[in-house]
Amino acid sequence: MSNIEQTLSIIKPDAVERNLESEIKEMFKSNGFQILKEKKIQIEKAEAEKFYKVHETKPFYNDLCEYLSSGPIVVMILQKENAVKGNRELMGATNPKDAEEGTIRKKYGISIDKNSVHGSDSVDNAKIEIDFFFKD
Ligand code: UDP
Ligand code: MG
Repeated sequence: MSNIEQTLSIIKPDAVERNLESEIKEMFKSNGFQILKEKKIQIEKAEAEKFYKVHETKPFYNDLCEYLSSGPIVVMILQKENAVKGNRELMGATNPKDAEEGTIRKKYGISIDKNSVHGSDSVDNAKIEIDFFFKD
């Protein structure tokens, strides 16, 4: 049975800064993802704090929110069969050092904090995150 899903992807500041936007989009497309919507924006730290609220008790929370708001990002709605899990697989582990060959984070990630991409971790969070950036 088909299970077309949508998920939220972000190309983070470290990757936009290194002009990796087209290469990363190409990886999504060649892996069968459709980019339904996309925009390049820069967000305020307060918005990053809201987006990453689930991590507010973590020691890395403040730096993470500073970082996500430090430069332009590209936010995208990706669509594919089982898109949420498929995107997490294509991204690779949070720490690029642990990421498998062929994943975006293995290829482009610099460090556990500058790991080039974000992807929703569940279907429910995908809906919340898509609304966060694309609700008019
Ligand atoms: N992060 C960090 N230090 C850590 C763990 C995470 O800076 O020790 C950052 C990293 O940018 C990561 C984000 O916080 O992508 C969100 O963490 P999460 O555990 O949700 O990882 P992800 O879902 O992005 O793989
Ligand atoms: Mg996460």
